[in-house]
Amino acid sequence: MRATVMHGAGDVRVETVPDARLIEPTDALLRITRACICGSDLWPYKKMEPSKTGQRMGHEFIGVVEAVGKDVRTVKRGDLVVAPFAWSDGTCEFCKEGLQTSCLHGGFWGGTKLDGGQGEAVRVPQADGTLVVLPVGPDDALMPGLLTLSDVMGTGHHAARAAKVAPGKTAAVVGDGAVGLCGVIAARRLGAERIIMLGRHPDRIALAKDFGATDIVSERGEAAIEKVRELTKGVGAHSVLECVGLDESMRTALSITRPGGAVGRVGVPQDESIPAGDDSFFKNVTISGGPAPVRAYIEELMPDVMEGRIEPGRVFDRVTNLDGVPTDIVR
Ligand SMILES: [Zn+2]
Repeated sequence: MRATVMHGAGDVRVETVPDARLIEPTDALLRITRACICGSDLWPYKKMEPSKTGQRMGHEFIGVVEAVGKDVRTVKRGDLVVAPFAWSDGTCEFCKEGLQTSCLHGGFWGGTKLDGGQGEAVRVPQADGTLVVLPVGPDDALMPGLLTLSDVMGTGHHAARAAKVAPGKTAAVVGDGAVGLCGVIAARRLGAERIIMLGRHPDRIALAKDFGATDIVSERGEAAIEKVRELTKGVGAHSVLECVGLDESMRTALSITRPGGAVGRVGVPQDESIPAGDDSFFKNVTISGGPAPVRAYIEELMPDVMEGRIEPGRVFDRVTNLDGVPTDIVR
């Protein structure tokens, strides 16, 4: 079969790889119908050292079940399913707590050992715990929105939950990428009265406003912090969603959080330490977040997508096929 392989910074190829197949009785085999790229793919795309074997790409996908192992109970051949960006058994103590990214028998797609979603097919370990059946056909107009349930919408929701967004409160979102935009959707969905978006791309800002952002801050660094303070009577936001993962974005997030407030971080940290330690300590700021257990949120968010109450599929701005991945990739 054919699949996308990253060999180093800026070096993405479509190659012939061994066919995906069932190995464990708990596996399912999917034929991929939709997949996307992630903000976390941008880091290796910028920095990955050249590799002889390369790593398989794609952890956000929808597909049709082609076959299942003998122990699989919840999905069957012919089902259209969405997969979260981590696979999980659904039965261990962390899965029961809704923290499937810490599953004792789980893991992450792609890399050097497992199939990735950017290919013709994928072997799904722990199919019962991992996959969720979609109630529509593979060409339904809602596919983009349903695809976001594999990562970005669930991740934006996780940031909002970790930042303790609540009705009547002020939320701020650092980062106007797909997760930040979904963070705006999530903050509004959870009842935030005011949503301040920190971003500077005109098309994304327009989308953020459509999604419910009430204020836009396009300054950076100290000027951005100053602007948010002005907008919040000098005290900062109750809830701050950190959707980038860089030192500067985390510093900004902590600096614009109101005393007693919370930062929900979902951008994969690119630095070892948390900046602005003094400031966040003396403000009693809660720092929470991590890889979103999106599997826990799919059932909660899917009805809102199905019924058009939220439109996270609008974050996609380019569509291509497998052959187009190496050249059409967004830089
Ligand atoms: Zn588990």
